[in-house]
Amino acid sequence: MRVLVVEDERRLASVVQRGLEAEGYAVDVCHDGRHGLWMALEQPYQAIVLDLMLPGLNGYRVCEQLRRADVRTPVLMLTAKNGEWDEAEALDTGADDYLTKPFSYVVLLARLRALIRRGGPVRRPALQIGDLHIDPATRRCRRGEEEIELTAKEFAVLAHLGLRSGEVVTRTDLLEQVWDAHHEAASNIIDVHIRALRRKIDIPFGRTTIHTVRGAGYRLADGDA
Ligand code: CA
Repeated sequence: MRVLVVEDERRLASVVQRGLEAEGYAVDVCHDGRHGLWMALEQPYQAIVLDLMLPGLNGYRVCEQLRRADVRTPVLMLTAKNGEWDEAEALDTGADDYLTKPFSYVVLLARLRALIRRGGPVRRPALQIGDLHIDPATRRCRRGEEEIELTAKEFAVLAHLGLRSGEVVTRTDLLEQVWDAHHEAASNIIDVHIRALRRKIDIPFGRTTIHTVRGAGYRLADGDA
């Protein structure tokens, strides 16, 4: 079991390294993005712990380039708390999971084990709801042939509804899935995003795909279903 840790805070990197080694992993450490990318391309790893803010090349870009090179090693992204971070963005670049600093070491281990057990990134197939096409892998959305531009959060809301199309998705569920669980989201944040989505994917096409289920949440379905 070989794991790569790419983290420029040397103390943190060595704490993580020692901890993982104590658990029986072989651990390679490096402190900048370019070197990390090179190592990940050269060597097969079971998982990569990748810091977001790195010198050389940031975590988003490292991840993106790995996926572009068709390296599917599971990536656990480490992020600072301070808002430069966008979960949807990271997942779009191909990270499989993320952890906000400061994190508990126990949680890091658990997440890493889960990633390794799954043996690779979760495949996120494209979704088709009527003529609405949602592709989480490329973060693109089309209605028929028409390409629709969505923000990262709008896309995340739509993709989450789409994954469970036909079912009622509660507001709490959306909040937890799309916004950080600890994020103090304004209470109307979901309404704002749903409204924006309707203005982009439904209203211009005279459709109703996002249905409000009174007192429960939302359901994505083609037509009146
Ligand atoms: Ca850093």
